[in-house]
Amino acid sequence: MNPSRRKMLKAGGLTLAMIPVVAMAAKNDAMRASMKYKDSPEGDKSCATCVQFVPGKSPTDLGGCKIFPGDTEVSPKGYCVAWAKKG
Ligand code: SF4
Repeated sequence: MNPSRRKMLKAGGLTLAMIPVVAMAAKNDAMRASMKYKDSPEGDKSCATCVQFVPGKSPTDLGGCKIFPGDTEVSPKGYCVAWAKKG
């Protein structure tokens, strides 16, 4: 194998290894903007008490939101205009 081919393969391997990290941390900027999402609560309203919130591993971890497809960085202390009281 010539050196440049070996270099290319190595770079390809690194790129592939990084994909899961990128996939695990993502923001749906378009939905965040249209729903006026912010990382702080609005009075006593926050994602943690919203029916759309998909909690992370622990109650303080970042999670997801059912109306923000692909977003994995929704804060339990966040808020947006689509907030709806859970249960
Ligand atoms: S709809 Fe809005 S308030 Fe409710 S969890 Fe999603 S981002 Fe948070």
